Parts: sequence; structure tokens; C-alpha cells
Amino acid sequence: MDLCERCELSEAKIRLHMESDSMHLCNDCYNELMAEDLDVTLQPLLETFSIKDYQGISRTFLVERRPDPMGIFLEASETIEFGYKFAVHGELDCDQQALLNKLIDKAQIGIGKQQVKSGVFPNGQPYHTIMNDQFTGLIEYDETAEGLPLVIIDGKPFSWEEVGRMLMTYEGFQMKLEVYDFTDDVPEGSGPPNKNKTVM
Ligand SMILES: [Zn+2]
Repeated sequence: MDLCERCELSEAKIRLHMESDSMHLCNDCYNELMAEDLDVTLQPLLETFSIKDYQGISRTFLVERRPDPMGIFLEASETIEFGYKFAVHGELDCDQQALLNKLIDKAQIGIGKQQVKSGVFPNGQPYHTIMNDQFTGLIEYDETAEGLPLVIIDGKPFSWEEVGRMLMTYEGFQMKLEVYDFTDDVPEGSGPPNKNKTVM
């Protein structure tokens, strides 16, 4: 692991570019330098929290904060690889505790609903089904799939092929794919009208 060039104690994770050179820094040093530069005070915040998912299982998140010229970015990522991840963004002068509460609320809503059901066919073949004709996922890099994405849904990784198979339940239907910034709230869609809505 690369050590931070400023404190030489923690893992360097972020590269800070300055006028003529750049420094490889740990999160804390990066935040301190950015906060100084942007003239914001970093309020003390929880660094971790645990909340229960749709099955009542406790999920633990690490909180990372990053001030940038556009505002304050807060991310909660689960302590497992390819787990749940949520982020929010606030103004530089926002109440950081309120921003953290917003992040925890967002995480609570996100992990509170199951979107994909998994099972096994009688022949032993596993399958996944999209439960309410829609899902919200996070696009990640799949190092095994030559340029195809890995999609994190329900805090679990799905290969692009698995996502494709799930969609085949909807052969003949239209679909809409829309992407959102990591910090945006994704609105709920309405789903296919003939499946979800009552015909009067
Ligand atoms: Zn450091």
C-alpha cells in the first residue's frame, strides 16, 4: 500500500493536483488541505453506522467525507466488497450532521426494499427475478468481463449477463434505461401499466 505523502501514517487514496505538482494523500490529509483551502470547518461526524436491511440483517457502513469546490460529498459504503453504497452532496456551508442524516435515510430506504429475488430451478440452475418491474443499481467495473459492467443490486453484484437473463422475463416489453449521478435520488418508476395499474 502507498503511504500518504503528508502524514506518512495512513493509506494514500486520493491524488491532490496543485499548480505544478501533485500529492498522494490519505483521506484525512486530503480533507484537511481541502477544508483549509475552501475555508470550511469539518464538523465531527460518525465514521460508521449500522442499519438493518429488508431481511432484518444488520449492514455496517463506513462514512467518507470529501469537501470539494462544489460542496461536500458524503459516501456510505458497506464494509464488504460489492456491497451497498450510497452518496449525497451538500453545499459547502451546509449542516454536515444534517447531510449525514440524509445519507443514513437514503441508505435506510435503499436497503429496506428487495428488488431482485433469487432462487434455484428444480434442475439446480440458479435464477434471479426482478420483483417490481424495475430496479435501481450501481454500475461498477467488472474486471472479469472485458468492458461489460457489473451492477450492484440489493447489495450484491450481478454480471451483465445475469442482468440480461433477468430481463428476458420481459421479452416483448419496452424498457427505459436512465442513469443518475451517484448522489442523486432515483425516482421510482411506474412499471408496465398493464401489470401494475388497475384498469377502470
Ligand atoms: Zn495523511
